[in-house]
Amino acid sequence: MHKPSPPLEGPDAFQDQIRIVLVETSHSGNIGAVARAMKNMGLANLWLVNPNSFPDEASYARAAGASDILDRAQVVPTLDKALEDCVLVMGTSARGRKIPWPVVPPPEAAAIAVENSRSGSVALVFGRENHGLSNDELHRCHYHIHIPSNPDYSSLNLAMAVQVMCYELRMLFLRNLEGGEGSPYLRPMTAPGDAGWDVPPAKVGDVEGFFGHLEQTLHDVDFHRRDNPRQLMSRLRRLFQRAKLDQMEINILRGILSSVQKAAGAQGNAKPTKAGTKPTGQEDGHV
Ligand code: SAH
Repeated sequence: MHKPSPPLEGPDAFQDQIRIVLVETSHSGNIGAVARAMKNMGLANLWLVNPNSFPDEASYARAAGASDILDRAQVVPTLDKALEDCVLVMGTSARGRKIPWPVVPPPEAAAIAVENSRSGSVALVFGRENHGLSNDELHRCHYHIHIPSNPDYSSLNLAMAVQVMCYELRMLFLRNLEGGEGSPYLRPMTAPGDAGWDVPPAKVGDVEGFFGHLEQTLHDVDFHRRDNPRQLMSRLRRLFQRAKLDQMEINILRGILSSVQKAAGAQGNAKPTKAGTKPTGQEDGHV
């Protein structure tokens, strides 16, 4: 795959160098939706070639909080005007055309756009809702971008096609931030131990202490019979291991067990196992 250099920061950042060009958009609501899609992904440079109606209420209504992108949008009468100062033009199309042209999928297209944005403005061109870009317009492009949609229903809504490209640009930007693939924005945070989790993961000794306490409590309330253990403790172990408990969760669970023991009047014979001690009942040999 094309390997991009890290994007620039500051006023010359690729986000400003890459312009989204919409050609003769019929529904102004779509222009607003495009502005929103762009702002969500950190892009701001919108060019409108001879829009049917702009600015108007529908475009601002659909832009939601992205009206600043609409305020800054450049409205020009021809595609030539939108492209004349660009160093690279990439046109999007839902279908193949008569003369095959260099076609790139969205992630590679984003990489090419970012790379070229270091030397000047790059245009990503999107067509009309009803019949896309003309062949003449597509022949003005260095590359075509095809979003690999369902071949039986390949045409995305204009703003959604823009969203896909802006998303790819954003992913590239995040990957190139300090930390690369390990960037905090790209890392999942699903369990203790992941960056961002609020409590440290429980240590094995603490979890074993909890299992011992659990087994003792189940015994105290006559749920678990050591002479007929079946696979109870193994199954409970599997359940709790799957949850990847954190230290506070262990404390809560042990507090609950202590209360259960107390309520069951079992304090006398039930000696809660301290965290970190070996669980009782392992001698059953069923774990
Ligand atoms: N009916 C038109 C498609 C219009 S959709 C046609 O057949 O060409 C409006 C615009 O969204 C397209 O011009 C293109 O810029 C973009 N778009 C929609 N689906 C796309 C896809 N699968 N790949 C790339 N761009 C797409």
